[in-house]
Amino acid sequence: MRCPICNKEFLQSDPNVVFPFCSKRCQQIDAKRWFNEEYTVYSLNVDKLEREIAEGSTSSDGDSHSENDGE
Ligand SMILES: [Zn+2]
Repeated sequence: MRCPICNKEFLQSDPNVVFPFCSKRCQQIDAKRWFNEEYTVYSLNVDKLEREIAEGSTSSDGDSHSENDGE
C-alpha cells in the first residue's frame, strides 16, 4: 500500500495505519484538504453569486406583486 497523502509505503497490518492512509495524521491532513477545497469552492460561488445579483438587481423588478390585486 502507498499512502495517498505522503506517498509512503505502509503495511495494512500496521497498528498505526488508518486505511487508506498510513497514519491518523495523514487522514487528518486529507480531511483538512477536503474541507479547505470545499470552503474555497463555496466562497468562490458566493462571490460569483453576489456579483451576479449586484449586476442584475434592477432588471427584473415589476411583475412580482401584481398577484395581490385580485381581492
Ligand atoms: Zn501518509
